[in-house]
Amino acid sequence: METTLHLPELFGSRVFNEETMKERLSPASYGAWKKCVTEGTSLDISTANEIAEAMKQWAVEKGATHFTHWFQPMTGVTAEKHDSFISPVGGGRIMMEFSGKELVRGESDASSFPSGGLRATFEARGYTAWDPTSFAFLKEGTLCIPTIFCSYSGHALDKKTPLLRSLDEMSRQAIRILRLFGDTQTRRVIAQVGPEQEYFLIDKQLYARRKDLRMTGRTLFGAKPPRGQELDDHYYGAIKPRVAAFMKDLDETLWSLGVPSKTKHNEVAPSQHEMAPIYTDANTACDQNQLVMEVMKKVADHHDLVCLLHEKPFAGVNGSGKHDNWSLGTDTGKNLFRPGSTPSQNAQFLLFLAAFVKGVDEYQDFLRTTVATAGNDHRLGAQEAPPAVISIFLGDELNAVVESIIQGTEYTDASKKTLEIGVDVLPAIRQDTTDRNRTSPMAFTGNKFEFRMLGSSQSISGPNIALNTIMAEELKQFADELEQSTDFQGDLQKLIRRVFTQHQRIIFNGNGYDGAWIAEAERRGLSNLKSAADALPAYVAPKNVELFVKHGIYIKEEIQARYEIHVENYVNVLKIEASTMIDMIRHDILPAVSRYAADLCTRADSKKRMDVPCAYEINTAKGVAKIADDLMEQCRILASDLEELPAGPETAMRYCHDTLLPDMVNARASADALEVLTAAEYWPMPVYSQLLFSV
Ligand code: ADP
Ligand code: MG
Repeated sequence: METTLHLPELFGSRVFNEETMKERLSPASYGAWKKCVTEGTSLDISTANEIAEAMKQWAVEKGATHFTHWFQPMTGVTAEKHDSFISPVGGGRIMMEFSGKELVRGESDASSFPSGGLRATFEARGYTAWDPTSFAFLKEGTLCIPTIFCSYSGHALDKKTPLLRSLDEMSRQAIRILRLFGDTQTRRVIAQVGPEQEYFLIDKQLYARRKDLRMTGRTLFGAKPPRGQELDDHYYGAIKPRVAAFMKDLDETLWSLGVPSKTKHNEVAPSQHEMAPIYTDANTACDQNQLVMEVMKKVADHHDLVCLLHEKPFAGVNGSGKHDNWSLGTDTGKNLFRPGSTPSQNAQFLLFLAAFVKGVDEYQDFLRTTVATAGNDHRLGAQEAPPAVISIFLGDELNAVVESIIQGTEYTDASKKTLEIGVDVLPAIRQDTTDRNRTSPMAFTGNKFEFRMLGSSQSISGPNIALNTIMAEELKQFADELEQSTDFQGDLQKLIRRVFTQHQRIIFNGNGYDGAWIAEAERRGLSNLKSAADALPAYVAPKNVELFVKHGIYIKEEIQARYEIHVENYVNVLKIEASTMIDMIRHDILPAVSRYAADLCTRADSKKRMDVPCAYEINTAKGVAKIADDLMEQCRILASDLEELPAGPETAMRYCHDTLLPDMVNARASADALEVLTAAEYWPMPVYSQLLFSV
């Protein structure tokens, strides 16, 4: 990439965005596309043909030879199948062709993507269909067209379809509420999302020598290094030249792809960093975050680095998460979670807040399942990430407002007056005071909520589908009630007070890392689903299934299918980790320490013959040999337990959690003890201090 670049020209230069469409389409086709995007109308084939032709011309001018329907199957990563534009015209010559039909719909042999039994129930193939609300872009000579992925009977096989459904439904219900407040302008309510992405960068050569990192994305072994993150010198510290070069390259690539990468800084752990884009609509944010993760890996590779997106690549230092900043905005530019400056705006704000509080309380278990993965289990509740208990942090000012509404008493602030909803204005909610609590899983940060439990490698789709749908449900209930009211102001007051009173238990403004909170949460009756194995069954709890079916986000079979995929995924991750561990113990660690112990014995022997003291050699050899025997036995147990993995997915998940994980913890403890005792030249892989402090 050029070093002297003009940012406004670079930004979005590889995106077939609205501006480009305006330039290259006839006014009629541009108008039809715009209407399709803002009002959900469908496009006719002649418009699609024109858009396809313009897209192809634009892409070919920029050097593209192929196009792909770019989609997000349930694997959590993106999938693409490239077709070239070429079409034979006789005489051995070709033309570059791309039709509206090819743009709008593609076929895909879906049989190798996880479908959780949906395909067996319905039929074998899947198709992809253009999502005109997300812009096409160019990636390495290929025109990428964001698409949904469905089975022929219309069942969602991907992470985009239900997200789009949830966005529509949330908008529909939110508009009902806005109309009650006299808003006649808003035509669409948009979920706005800004995902902050954490990651590690390590040296490629060292990575290549760690089988565990290559196979599982995390280290399965590794003793604590002499220095970890205790000096706190990495967080926001000066960025090292090699990392800075990576970040510059990353930014430029992302900007050209229209991703508004905004902030970058070092994170808490050594070698850990973060990137945050400027927020956008949830659908685009989700597509772009997938792209961000892909680009991070590729750009790292160009710099002889490896980007680790796993939630917990290293034990004993902080893992990586993703903060999902989420708010609702109108197409007229208003943020519905911004406390307003007039009584009416504030009443509306409090009603949306009440909906959120009620929804998070009622569906805390489901929200927990949306972040439940084997990788994320290593961070949630571990003093570095939010606990597994879900609660909402409101900050002191807003909390005082909620308290006074519940009590019907006076504020504790200086003004000392009773708040009458719809009549009075709220006291100023200062943004800086809401942002101090970093331990809350769901924090109000001035004009948005920050859902902080997401794992760094996961798609943000699932959590946002949940937030949108939960919001739709609560807003629907409120609208059903208030639309019938003959005394809107009075009933609004009562409803808000009732809801805050019934759901106050989910609000917690203290330290989420404190053990006392977990006990307190239990007294409050909040759910504490400690691991993915504990949490995932809630995915198909009847009340949760009912929620998604009622709002048309999933049919029952779709949600069941998704549940099965998540369970299978958990089991597969654990199986791969256990197998990798066994492999490394048998083929790398035990042979290495055996050689070390034997060499020590040989040296002790020759020293003894010369009458030289050799306690060091003998004691070390004995220590190493003893632990090696322990490790051999632990490895045997792990291997035999792995053999006995039950067949049923749910039983297998439980078994992995209850049996394989403890086996792995035991084996790791011995292996790490061996690492501490073994001379560096014998240890078969780079250790933590090398991995974490090499870049
Ligand atoms: P931090 O969490 O590090 O203090 P910010 O709060 O400034 O940083 O922003 C974090 C992320 O939240 C960014 O991606 C930002 O664009 C996004 N964000 C800011 N305002 C909103 C909003 N109203 N809705 C959704 N996301 C937002
Ligand atoms: Mg944040």
